[in-house]
Amino acid sequence: MAELLVYIDGKYYSHSEAKISVFDHGLLYGDGVFEGIRAYDGYVLKLNEHINRLYASAKTIFLDIPLTKKEFREAILQTIFKNKLKDAYIRVVVTRGYGDLGLDPRKCLKATVIIIAGYIPPLYEGINATAIIATTRRNAVTALNPMIKSLNYLNNILAKIEANRAKVDEAIMLNQNGTVSEGTGDNIFIVKDGKIITPPSTAAILMGITRGIAIKLAQEERIEVIEREITVHEIICADEAFMTGTAAEIAPLVKVDGIEIGEGKPGPITIKLIGKFKEIRKNGTPVYG
Ligand code: PMP
Repeated sequence: MAELLVYIDGKYYSHSEAKISVFDHGLLYGDGVFEGIRAYDGYVLKLNEHINRLYASAKTIFLDIPLTKKEFREAILQTIFKNKLKDAYIRVVVTRGYGDLGLDPRKCLKATVIIIAGYIPPLYEGINATAIIATTRRNAVTALNPMIKSLNYLNNILAKIEANRAKVDEAIMLNQNGTVSEGTGDNIFIVKDGKIITPPSTAAILMGITRGIAIKLAQEERIEVIEREITVHEIICADEAFMTGTAAEIAPLVKVDGIEIGEGKPGPITIKLIGKFKEIRKNGTPVYG
């Protein structure tokens, strides 16, 4: 099989040749932003939403992306096209670029743009996921707002290590107030008495694009969705829980800290939303034609 082609600053390189400078501030300081995007059967899901979030993240960290949104969309579609992919997971990275060893971003004259189109299966495919409540708290919105999808993921990685050590699938992170924020790479939902509840934008979360899809699908089914803070007690006593994310899609969460949620298996609302998500997956931007 031919090597994957990776886009770097307007050129394509084979997987093994795709390299950036060790002086890139994305590497030296985690100074940059990224997106994870999926394509299904040649259609990119929520491409505009991902591009908008990328540019919003960049704006907040004063990072100029050297492409228009239209050019960026085209570059993503081209990268998928060149790799002849239909089902794809696309990683878009924009770093502060090449600088010196100091952290001053003024030394970085131009952002580095990377697009990697490959494939990873849904994170919790075929699994009824289990989680712990991590002791690592989510970044405070006043420190590094989780709304910015930055390359600084050490906070999440530490929580993921906690999950790995506890031999569960995911870690639920609390915010600085001690209410539920999000998973390490996904948003958290619970179902109680037929209503869906998920933490709001102010609870130190990334505004997940799959979160938005799940809310819309639920509302189409006339299921009430409430955005408000959730406590750990509420997760444990929920009837159902699920996670949403581009990599995770919609995944049932059946156990937290060893305690079964509801009946300890995917509940009817979760199953309904997973089914509906499968139906709309191909409603995206076409790569081919
Ligand atoms: N929270 C975090 C911390 C994430 O990394 C992700 C994955 N991008 C999400 C939530 C889910 O966001 P989305 O549905 O846009 O992929």
